[in-house]
Amino acid sequence: MTNLVLFGPPGAGKGTQAEILKKKFNLVHISTGDVFRYNIKNETELGTLAKSFMDKGQLVPDEVTIKMLNAEVEKNVGAKGFIFDGFPRTTAQAQALDELLASKNTEVAAMIALEVEDKILILRLLERGKTSGRKDDADEAVITNRIAVYYKETAILKDYYEKQDKYYGVDGEGDVKDITVRLATVIEGL
Ligand code: AMP
Repeated sequence: MTNLVLFGPPGAGKGTQAEILKKKFNLVHISTGDVFRYNIKNETELGTLAKSFMDKGQLVPDEVTIKMLNAEVEKNVGAKGFIFDGFPRTTAQAQALDELLASKNTEVAAMIALEVEDKILILRLLERGKTSGRKDDADEAVITNRIAVYYKETAILKDYYEKQDKYYGVDGEGDVKDITVRLATVIEGL
């Protein structure tokens, strides 16, 4: 199995690139943000709980997120591998992912980070907010908070994967196609 963690701050292009890479490499794409939004739309209990955190740009608690992620992986037992997008975001989530994959005799092959300047992230998210219908993209204060949460709680995971020699940084600025080529080069070299 090839299990990839697509990493980077909000607006780095993880979702866009994961959609392309899943087809190219025949992987299952799991976006925790998308799963939460699906649950909000369908007014499930999980959706109601997640919404209060998402609207403020805060992280949904680990316990809830990890349980949901485990269930998504279990739904795809025959997968050739996964692209995790927006997960893990905390050390507890990274440890839980290691345990889950170990129980399936597999592991994270690489964390690939899309590196994008903060100024560009804010512009991209405000632009996306015009059409995405996402409340957390429409308000600059929420966007700024999401980026701050990324640096405070999530960026530390670079160390976690670097220690395992699994961290790859990729320039996430420029043309979508050029960024895909950069990512694919890393994946093909694994
Ligand atoms: P995203 O679609 O990845 O930008 O995520 C949107 C929002 O969903 C985040 O701001 C969090 O509130 C929540 N979320 C998504 N993934 C996670 C995660 N792994 N841990 C905690 N909260 C998450």
